[in-house]
This record gives sequence, C-alpha cells and structure tokens, in this order.
Amino acid sequence: MKKAICPGSFDPVTLGHVDIIERAADIFDEVTVLVMSNKSKKQSLFTVAERMELIRRSVSKPNVKIDTYDGLLVDYAKQNGAVAIVKGLRAMSDFEYEFQQALTNKSLYPNAETMFLCARGENMFLSSSMVKEVCSLGGDIRPFVPQSIAEDIYNRCKGDKSND
Ligand code: ADP
Repeated sequence: MKKAICPGSFDPVTLGHVDIIERAADIFDEVTVLVMSNKSKKQSLFTVAERMELIRRSVSKPNVKIDTYDGLLVDYAKQNGAVAIVKGLRAMSDFEYEFQQALTNKSLYPNAETMFLCARGENMFLSSSMVKEVCSLGGDIRPFVPQSIAEDIYNRCKGDKSND
C-alpha cells in the first residue's frame, strides 16, 4: 500500500488545499493530511483540533486520513511508512523554500520522495492568510473555502483568536 502525507498548517483549509489533497488521494492508496502545529508561526486563527475538524468536513475521499504531529515531518513519515510527501506549488515564490525543505527531508530520510503538484490556475493566488485577511475586513470568502466551513471562518474572524 503506497502512503503519502500532505503536510501544512491549514489555518484554515482552503479550496487550494482540498484540490491538492484530493488529487494526491487519486494517486496514492492512502493520504494523511498532517496538521503541523508550527509553533514558530504567529498566532493561529483555529486550534489544531479545530483545523482537523474543518478538514474532515471539507474532504470526502475515503482514503484520506487526518492526523497531527509536532515533531519532524520525516519522523512521522518513517513511523507511518509513508513513501511520499505531497506539496502544492503556486508560484515561483513558493519554490525556493519548498526546494530547500525537500532537499533537507531527503537527506534526513531518503526513503520518502517529495512530490509537487501544480496549483490550479484559479488557486494560484489563494492562501490561508489571504482568506483570513479578506474575512477580517468583511469580504466574501465563499469563493476560496469549502462551502461547508465558510460560516465557521466568518464566526471565528468576528470573535476571539485561538490560543494555539
Ligand atoms: P504552510 O503553512 O506550512 O505553508 P499551508 O497550510 O499554507 O502550509 O499549505 C499546505 C500545503 O498546501 C503546502 O504544500 C502549500 O504549498 C499548499 N497550498 C497552499 N495553498 C495552496 C493553493 N492555493 N493551491 C495549491 N496548493 C496550496
């Protein structure tokens, strides 16, 4: 069974993420969406548990699992027998950082390959931070996030931030 991991912070999950996750699920037998807690990032909008729940309500493929990990991604890959780390690439601006990460992960754990899927044209500009910014300024985020979770994002933008 070929297993892959789609890692990220997913704060919150967007249609760009869902597209990459579902395309990976068409290629691999099992895909784990791995919500990294990313302590170095500034305050998050949703807790890790909430982000996992929003992903659960956004992705319907039966071979997609959702998990969290606060250690090294390659250690999770090793422990869970994953052969690939699948990432979405939007623009050249993503590339340098992603390339550096891929090379680092390859030297730490040569048995897993990083694979890049190109973002769809309509998702090229889409990011969690853009969604948060539009939402906090009262804009319409429905074109950017799964319909089933838009309300949760609106409500959170109006209220308090998470304590993650
Ligand atoms: P991080 O916070 O670690 O950068 P994100 O949660 O933003 O991670 O994204 C997780 C993964 O999804 C990354 O591989 C990222 O490149 C990819 N991704 C993010 N937004 C999009 C998008 N609009 N289209 C395709 N892939 C995307």
